[in-house]
Amino acid sequence: MSKIDEKLEPILAEVLRRNAGEDEFHQAVTEVFESLGRVIAKNPEYVDYALIERLCEPERQIIFRVPWVDDRGQVQINRGFRVQFNSALGPYKGGLRFHPSVNLGIIKFLGFEQIFKNALTGLPIGGGKGGSDFNPRDRSDGEIMRFCQSFMTELYRHIGEYTDVPAGDIGVGGREIGFLFGQYKRLTNRYEAGVLTGKGLVYGGSRARTEATGYGAVYFVQRMLETRKTSFEGKRCVVSGSGNVAIYTMEKILEFGGTVVACSDSNGYIVDEAGIDLDFVKELKLTRRARMSEYARLKGVGTHYIEEGSIWDVACDVAMPSATQNELTGRDARALIKNGVMAVGEGANMPCTPEAVQLFQEAGVLFGPGKAANAGGVATSALEMQQNASRDSWTFEQTETRLAAIMMNIHDTCAETADEYGAPGNYVLGANIAGFVRVAEGMRALGV
Ligand code: GLU
Repeated sequence: MSKIDEKLEPILAEVLRRNAGEDEFHQAVTEVFESLGRVIAKNPEYVDYALIERLCEPERQIIFRVPWVDDRGQVQINRGFRVQFNSALGPYKGGLRFHPSVNLGIIKFLGFEQIFKNALTGLPIGGGKGGSDFNPRDRSDGEIMRFCQSFMTELYRHIGEYTDVPAGDIGVGGREIGFLFGQYKRLTNRYEAGVLTGKGLVYGGSRARTEATGYGAVYFVQRMLETRKTSFEGKRCVVSGSGNVAIYTMEKILEFGGTVVACSDSNGYIVDEAGIDLDFVKELKLTRRARMSEYARLKGVGTHYIEEGSIWDVACDVAMPSATQNELTGRDARALIKNGVMAVGEGANMPCTPEAVQLFQEAGVLFGPGKAANAGGVATSALEMQQNASRDSWTFEQTETRLAAIMMNIHDTCAETADEYGAPGNYVLGANIAGFVRVAEGMRALGV
């Protein structure tokens, strides 16, 4: 706790005590508190209004039973969550995660991060997150549909275009959003397109939403590289994951002239020194829903599939962890630094452990934290809400241009805030402070 301001120490201790056992939530909160000392030194009134305590307590937490029938006729039970964390700036906004690791602590960490991320976009969205411990792996389309319908049968009463607007996250993509929206429409008898984002194009979705998180992360890193007078051109990159974020991160890196030599899934990673064949990854992951081991098996010569060990042992100039929380440890950071990494951009939420982040910062590596670098997804969700509200549909170019401008603006806001608070180049501090100040001002204006 040495890095925490002494006025904040008792507040943090109380937050940790009240949320005992929620390790990821503790991690996310502690990191923000480490940045806030400099804010309260300048603006002591943020302590007086109990703004920080209020920010750490979700406005509402919903936990519910999700019963559904599998293909064998067996009744299955999962647990559903929606944490409506903060609505000072707009309706709660944030994804749904379907993964067996999901519990209240994970959803709270994600919801907490989402408050700051959404504030940084400059768009009118509050923060929330939800999901279930349901494991979609190897489930049929019918099972996925019945699960989504049951999940929405409870969730629908808590959401709405002016209340709370969920979207996707790990395990929730276009197929699931379609089933969820269908059930919402059936239950409410309303075609309320703005209640969910990440929708398909034919029923109110936005162009570029699928690509947005990955593209946005690459725009952010590109801007960081520019501060060192360089670019992606000719850079060797490693992108962990092979889901929606990783795939479109790789696509934009290739467009910007970089090469991607490795990517992964939860079983192992592949290295292809000739450069990953992205079309093949897309076919495997998006069409065939196959594992990455298939890549090496079918490609053969020149590619390696490795199950033991870490993708971060692969030397690179730019690392973009885009799989899941705490996937990149202190050990991995040391390996990357030893191999000369120049920039790290978090495509996933909190993929680097606190030790890894500290090591990168001490080594002078450009480090873009997830709440800034991966904000392009939720920003484009807010653009989808705008299109739904005006019953309009923008072109891909229009949408991507907006996304690029938002990412540049987030980068510059973080960089300028870090300068202003005496920590030039510290994007973690810049993102936490800039996000906090915006939300805190909103909360203060709205009263207790
Ligand atoms: N799940 C994404 C995130 O972590 C997107 C959320 C959204 O579009 O609402 O930001």
